[in-house]
Amino acid sequence: MRIVFLGAPGSGKGTQAQRLMAEHGLVQVSTGDLLRTAVAAGTDLGLRAKAAMDAGDLVSDEIVLGMIRHRLQQDDTRAGFILDGFPRNLTQARALEDVLADISQPLDTVILLDVDLDILMKRLTGRRTCSLTGKLLNVYFSPQEEIDACLEAGGELIQRADDNEETIGNRLKVYRELTEPLIDYYRDTGLLQTIDGSGDIEVVYENLVNAVGLGGNRE
Ligand code: AMP
Repeated sequence: MRIVFLGAPGSGKGTQAQRLMAEHGLVQVSTGDLLRTAVAAGTDLGLRAKAAMDAGDLVSDEIVLGMIRHRLQQDDTRAGFILDGFPRNLTQARALEDVLADISQPLDTVILLDVDLDILMKRLTGRRTCSLTGKLLNVYFSPQEEIDACLEAGGELIQRADDNEETIGNRLKVYRELTEPLIDYYRDTGLLQTIDGSGDIEVVYENLVNAVGLGGNRE
């Protein structure tokens, strides 16, 4: 199963992709994660991407497409993958079609996680990652036990560098201007399915597995 997750920053793409990966063996391919890893490692690519990421702008198509081509040629993606945060503009969407045609792995579905703006803001400003487990948490929404479990085990709640209010504003603007046109693009291909991403993580996940046709596989 090959899926694209579309949705604004904070719509829950990463959270839902991690769970689909854990429960259904699909590989999460997040261009944001790949870029953050490159920045942290100080590679040439990371250095070139950092300024755009800090500002909440898109990293150049050339960098992102090179990264995605390389990632999708690795064997672990053969069993299926979720593209999380890619494509983010029309050029990337068209290039993705070429890459997938080359490896004979066409998309099965595109999921749009639809979330209201006020919820997006809280999700983004409250978002943290546990330094020990990598688990995604939110200071407004996560159960207190989950936050305490991280802290009591000696972990820290890490906030992403680009989860500050100024950068968030620009990321949402970039989403509206460059990424939202992909909704019509994928609607026209007949692959688009929209899921209400505002509710509880469990409910969104349930709707998601049903939408991608994996609902019957649990247990
Ligand atoms: P994300 O973790 O998906 O929110 O991505 C974090 C940042 O990485 C974005 O604000 C962009 O600067 C950059 N980025 C991630 N994916 C892409 C992409 N497909 N195209 C361009 N830039 C990207």
